[in-house]
Amino acid sequence: MSAEVLRCDDDVVLSRVVVGPLRTNTYLLGCARTGDTAVVDPGDDEPRITAALAGRRVVAAVLTHAHWDHVQAADALRARHGCLVLAHPAESAVWAHELAHLRAHGQWDWAQEQPPAGAPVPVPGWDGHLDAELVDGVPLELGRLSVDVLHTPGHTPGSVCLRAGADLLTGDTLFPGGPGLTGWPLSDFATVLASVEHRLLRLPGAVRVHPGHGPATTIGRERPSLEEWRRRGW
Ligand SMILES: [Zn+2]
Ligand SMILES: [Zn+2]
Repeated sequence: MSAEVLRCDDDVVLSRVVVGPLRTNTYLLGCARTGDTAVVDPGDDEPRITAALAGRRVVAAVLTHAHWDHVQAADALRARHGCLVLAHPAESAVWAHELAHLRAHGQWDWAQEQPPAGAPVPVPGWDGHLDAELVDGVPLELGRLSVDVLHTPGHTPGSVCLRAGADLLTGDTLFPGGPGLTGWPLSDFATVLASVEHRLLRLPGAVRVHPGHGPATTIGRERPSLEEWRRRGW
């Protein structure tokens, strides 16, 4: 499957490639004027991501968080394009946990999901090095496009969301139907709910939410469910 174009106007080019065993959404977010592009959550399959770029210049591989399914093409992108790998510094602990689990069990932490039968032992696709750190409130500059960085802890301590006007990339922080799961070590439900309530649901209702897996939604569609999520506790 090739890239699906989500937005293409005078300011922003945004497209999506679905990669890897957990069907991670890898987003290509770029400046329409200069072509400078960030690959957000390079989950796997660098050749297909690079093909989907269609010649646009990659300036950064941005990790919304450091769960393994969001980072596995980071080193390959850096090697091919010379781009920077960026994340929030609090994700170092998350990646350390992912690697420890892999060493102990010969598999990534799949949570409730089982790996396919006969799946080979994975090789980490990221060396864990951050070329620069994402900071809440300090925009990510892509050509003439300025992308807002929101630190939204909870699913992981250093989870971030990225906003380019009416498009919000939420990683595993917010999906249609609620916040991302918080059953993992280093995850916390009360924290992610506070991030969603205070940082995301206060954005305009028309803002489109593009999560780390599955289909999109909008802030307006999700906002009325906040109290229901709080009651159910996940
Ligand atoms: Zn995650
Ligand atoms: Zn994920």
